[in-house]
Amino acid sequence: MPATPTRPLPPQLLAAVRKHWGFTTLRPLQEQAIRASLAGRDSLVVMPTGGGKSLCFQAPAVIRDGLTVVVSPLIALMKDQVDGLTRIGVPAVRLDSTLTANERITTADRIRRGSVRLVFTSPERLVNTDVYQLLRDAGAHTVAVDEAHCVSHWGHDFRPEYRQLARLREFFPKASVHGYTATATERVRQDIAQQLGLNSPDILVGNFDRPNLTYRVLPRLDLLPQVRKVIDRHPGDAGIVYCLRRKDVDEMTLALTTAGYRAVPYHAGMTPEARRITQESFAAEEADVVVATVAFGMGIDRSNVRYVIHAAMPKTIEHYQQETGRGGRDGLPAECVMLYSGADFLTLKAIIEKSAEEAQAPPEFTAASVKHLDEMARYCRGAACRHKALVQYFGQGYDNENCGACDLCLGDTQEVPDAITVAQKILSCIARVKESFGIAHVIDVLRGGKTESIRSRGHDKLTTYGLLKDTPKADLRDWIYQLIGQDVLVQAGDEYPLLKLNAGSWAVMRGTQTVRLIQLARSEKRSKTTASAAQPIAMPAGSDPELFELLRQLRRREASSAGVKPELVFSDNVLAEMARGRPTTVDALRRVSGVGDYRLQSFGQAFLDAIAFHCRRTGLSTDVPAPRTFNGPSAKPASSAAPSAKKSLAFKLFRGGASVAAVVKQTELTPSTINEYLAEFVMAEKPASIFGWVPEDVCERVAAAADIHGTARLKPVFLELNEEVSYDHIRVVFAFMATQG
Ligand code: ADP
Ligand code: ZN
Repeated sequence: MPATPTRPLPPQLLAAVRKHWGFTTLRPLQEQAIRASLAGRDSLVVMPTGGGKSLCFQAPAVIRDGLTVVVSPLIALMKDQVDGLTRIGVPAVRLDSTLTANERITTADRIRRGSVRLVFTSPERLVNTDVYQLLRDAGAHTVAVDEAHCVSHWGHDFRPEYRQLARLREFFPKASVHGYTATATERVRQDIAQQLGLNSPDILVGNFDRPNLTYRVLPRLDLLPQVRKVIDRHPGDAGIVYCLRRKDVDEMTLALTTAGYRAVPYHAGMTPEARRITQESFAAEEADVVVATVAFGMGIDRSNVRYVIHAAMPKTIEHYQQETGRGGRDGLPAECVMLYSGADFLTLKAIIEKSAEEAQAPPEFTAASVKHLDEMARYCRGAACRHKALVQYFGQGYDNENCGACDLCLGDTQEVPDAITVAQKILSCIARVKESFGIAHVIDVLRGGKTESIRSRGHDKLTTYGLLKDTPKADLRDWIYQLIGQDVLVQAGDEYPLLKLNAGSWAVMRGTQTVRLIQLARSEKRSKTTASAAQPIAMPAGSDPELFELLRQLRRREASSAGVKPELVFSDNVLAEMARGRPTTVDALRRVSGVGDYRLQSFGQAFLDAIAFHCRRTGLSTDVPAPRTFNGPSAKPASSAAPSAKKSLAFKLFRGGASVAAVVKQTELTPSTINEYLAEFVMAEKPASIFGWVPEDVCERVAAAADIHGTARLKPVFLELNEEVSYDHIRVVFAFMATQG
């Protein structure tokens, strides 16, 4: 915890952030992290992906003399950051193994002359060469270790070369050391602090919820059509499909490309060259979908990933959080769909056991992995809000009643009514077939199948024959796995696993133990409820989708002629805001958050021209002011997420009945903005009642006062009610009254 009292940030810092990055505000945790850095206090900053970690070490570096050394695990990642910084006028270089001898000399020279502020390098280079002397002599005052969890065995991405960073202190005795990571578990945190030798560090931990992600777990019924369905909801957008095995990746890529999608594969079995091509074509927006194993991760620098599909359950919740976290890093909505089958647990368990055997891993290791699997499977079968489950797993609280952004809160899933009776039917059928058959046969018996195998064994004479004949096979299969997951049924044997009963099974059959079964909705059946998440991008109200698409194409062209990634031109947020405000002057464009002086100079005119051309052609109005907020222009949202994204999130939450306080918490917007959204929501969606937000008696008082004074102005009603009812409440009641007649 920060012990020192907080001083305001130096004005030149905010000026630099505005000039180079074009951001008008810092996020609260960024502010604290920057404060620690400027004060030379060691720190460990834990922020979920998309939280804005890089600014925490980049911005302070810019306003100080001397050097900030950034340790980064991947060359691709370093190159991206250096390119990006150079683009916005920040002098940064990298020292890595890909530089030619000549480049190395000029780079070292620039460092010596004091003309760079950030040097990116790899742990091995820093520790095993004399690079550190160069950096130390050039006045390195700060060492920032990016992806710091790589130092920990307990993390999901341990890198042995990170262990050597324990020597940093020895190399840079005068510098402050800072770790940045998205991995949150307590154990990893402690390990990082210890390994990096941090000196009573400020430990800054962000909120782990990602409200802009919608999580869904669907039963895997027919993989390819299900995957295509998600992709089709996001035409032209970026997405990732995670598969379990390399072979699955190859098959899925082939199936998708054959069907006309711009999909590329990524897995550890590919040559480095082939992997590089995949990464580059994805970054350059030449490919839309990367089909990958977990190997694809940290190298992705595309913040506008709009969907993440898991073709099967991942191994741990940490993996799941990381992988889904690659969606929506720009703060705009993204959809995470996991296609889950109860069989995934067994497949993964077999994989874990096999590799443990090959590696002769100690039994505790296997046990720990299976425990992680179990937690993951429990999440999939879980009946609690997904956002809540994830946040709680990482040790944080979540007191939102309805997140409005997961299958459970959106009402996609249902409990099977009378689950106990259904379970008893299934279990007694297994008893009747003497625990000697596998899932397929048991399902056939329960559904009254007419197979030879049933007839020849006389299983059509059993009392349980046809007991669940109207239940679809897929549901039965899923329920059986749910029973296994609740330990009231066992699947035993390797090659032909049989269903066996245990003590729990008998307890259920006797009625002394209960179970619950979840009916996972077929996405097809419920397309209505999921439609809200299905829009490609939630654009700001009033933004023109056609213009957005045009700007996106322009961005691609500009990027390719400037030889940079589209992302470095302008982010999706910026394009969406351009498509809304349709600025026609340099000044108006500069005011868009995320533009900044440098990008404005390089690309501004081309975009202004495109906007003007489009508006002339279609007759759209230009220079549309931002929607009014009640507390004036200074009340800008604290983050970069386009107001639209937050607004649609707020609407979604209101739809689920969330309170104003809950929505404030989720969106990190001010109460007055949220109240304004609530009024808009009431106008737009005409809910049947507003008593959840404004108590009934207050509504009546406001309505009575409005009878006297009308609804044209708020103030007379406010005064009539002796200033006892807030303007926010009055506004919401007025909105409601307007919908009533
Ligand atoms: P992380 O490394 O934590 O995943 P990034 O540094 O990539 O996050 O930042 C995530 C996104 O947030 C980027 O699109 C970045 O431009 C944006 N961002 C970061 N800080 C701010 C800020 N203060 N205001 C607006 N947008 C920001
Ligand atoms: Zn939820």
